[in-house]
Amino acid sequence: MRIILASPRGFCAGVNMAIESLDLALQAFGPPVYVYHEIVHNRFIVSQFRDRGVVFVNDLHEVPEGAHLLFSAHGVSPEIRDLARKRRLRALDATCPLVTKVHLEAVRFSKEGYTIILIGHKDHDEVIGTTGEARDAILLVETADDVDRLDLSPDAKVAYLTQTTLSVDDARRIIERLRERFPQLAGPRKEDICYATQNRQEAVRVLSQDADVVLVLGSQNSSNSQRLKELAVERGVPAYLIDGAADIRPEWFQGDETVLVTAGASAPESVVQECLRHLQDRYRAEVEVRALRTEEVHFPLPQELRGTHGPWINSGCS
Ligand code: SF4
Repeated sequence: MRIILASPRGFCAGVNMAIESLDLALQAFGPPVYVYHEIVHNRFIVSQFRDRGVVFVNDLHEVPEGAHLLFSAHGVSPEIRDLARKRRLRALDATCPLVTKVHLEAVRFSKEGYTIILIGHKDHDEVIGTTGEARDAILLVETADDVDRLDLSPDAKVAYLTQTTLSVDDARRIIERLRERFPQLAGPRKEDICYATQNRQEAVRVLSQDADVVLVLGSQNSSNSQRLKELAVERGVPAYLIDGAADIRPEWFQGDETVLVTAGASAPESVVQECLRHLQDRYRAEVEVRALRTEEVHFPLPQELRGTHGPWINSGCS
């Protein structure tokens, strides 16, 4: 067996920042630290933090007044920020700056009187947060066919935004359909699908040409990981989205394949390495790293967590 190990893969700058923030918050304040929704969409990361005393909640009423609460990388709506303030929670904001960018675009377009077509997945945390920025102005579309069903006049003042973790190809198709219906369509100054999503998709697009099977490390609820699997399947290569080596099925392999291994932006490198060890032990697989790009993106920690000790310990509500 031959393994092509894709690079870049795995953690993006937003996920790194969110995980480091939660780690620091635990060290500084001690458990329990509360997190609104999953810190990132990955089973291993969530379970490791749960073991260290993190409590993940879907409703802020579950968080005791005055407790420390972290907003995950996916961002939250203004209503949730308000509720946190009302409940006197000590909020730490680990929203990815590239998600915040989309929030700010939603606010700008809505102030300028646009109807905003948000391209994304209905129940995704990020889409729920973005929609909350301009609830009355935003219409969600998930597919190109949804565009045909929009009840808007051809000369409507419309702009589009996208979720950061979409399929680049799907988003392009939907935007083309929007432009056909609304030639005056406005859009973000710089596209919303983030660098990490684009780079990981590009790697699968290019490297899957040489592969018989694709393994994507990531959890089922990770949007960007799902898109990597779909991209390989669209290109005619069988692909599997797995949390770790325990999910690998022997019937997927004869033992002489070329296997492309990659990981979504929320999957830790430890599960990639575990998967490689499994394939090396079982099939004497040889690993070749193929790097398409280098990534040197870093995001700062939330204000309250900068520095190793000091003022943020007793910072109160923020
Ligand atoms: S996938 Fe992109 S938008 Fe999401 S956290 Fe990572 S860098 Fe930010």
